[in-house]
Amino acid sequence: MSSSSTTTSSTTTIITSTTTTTFQTGVQYGFFYDASRCNGCHACAVACKSWLEIPAGPQKPARLQEWETGSFPNVQLHFVFTTCFHCANPICVPAANGAMMKEPKYGVVLMDPSLATTQSMRDAAAACPYGAITFDSDADGATAVKCNMCVDRLEQGLKPVCVMTCPMRALDFDTMANLEAKYGTLQTIEGLPDPSETNPSVVFKPTDTPKQFVPYNPSEALPLLANRGNLPPLFDPSTVTTLSTDIVGRNHLVLKPAGVSDPTDTSIHDEG
Ligand code: SF4
Ligand code: SF4
Ligand code: SF4
Repeated sequence: MSSSSTTTSSTTTIITSTTTTTFQTGVQYGFFYDASRCNGCHACAVACKSWLEIPAGPQKPARLQEWETGSFPNVQLHFVFTTCFHCANPICVPAANGAMMKEPKYGVVLMDPSLATTQSMRDAAAACPYGAITFDSDADGATAVKCNMCVDRLEQGLKPVCVMTCPMRALDFDTMANLEAKYGTLQTIEGLPDPSETNPSVVFKPTDTPKQFVPYNPSEALPLLANRGNLPPLFDPSTVTTLSTDIVGRNHLVLKPAGVSDPTDTSIHDEG
């Protein structure tokens, strides 16, 4: 596979494959996300913003959602990739009152950019159960963005940039028929809505059950962590207590934050 560096007007550089694919037309395309491979690097979300030349800030056509559960030492960091899933039953479209449509070639749900600042897009965002439509502010007249399935790349025989950027190959893109034949038919994953409402064009693979490879023994581990050789101990192991579960950044999946600052307020990894 050959590759090239594509530099946008921002400073971010994306490595994208130049291998082309002949896409079918008149069929529904969609995404595959493998939570068991995803390491939460956010490269997909950053590459999407860079490709679409969206400035740093709350407009995020693709998001790597993350939340934490449990308390030390039994903690788990959860990830799920979300974007517009170009639903077969896109309830955003009637809500958008003409500002959105589902095109027939690849099954992309598109927004009319000239209507991005209208109340119609607020109504569409309210209807979407995935939080797939985001804005640059909470003010009236804010500008909406959403995933367009990289339709400009599809027209050139290139897969979406989020998929091609993923270093863990946790993402894939194909017709829904091919994705389902390859990966199964699971259309939801921990925390996501019931797919029967919109029939999203996505297949998920859940993460594996976490395994503890080395049993954690606080009486042995804490002195080792505190030890700095000839220097004083880093901390007093006897002062270490069990953490409460409510001090994590976010302890549940939030697909539709209350406002544009909410993701940055509650996660150190969602700043751009
Ligand atoms: S994910 Fe949301 S915005 Fe995208 S098609 Fe489905 S309902 Fe519409
Ligand atoms: S398909 Fe393109 S526009 Fe949609 S999330 Fe991926 S990179 Fe962004
Ligand atoms: S680029 Fe891949 S590994 Fe990184 S967050 Fe996105 S899906 Fe996960």
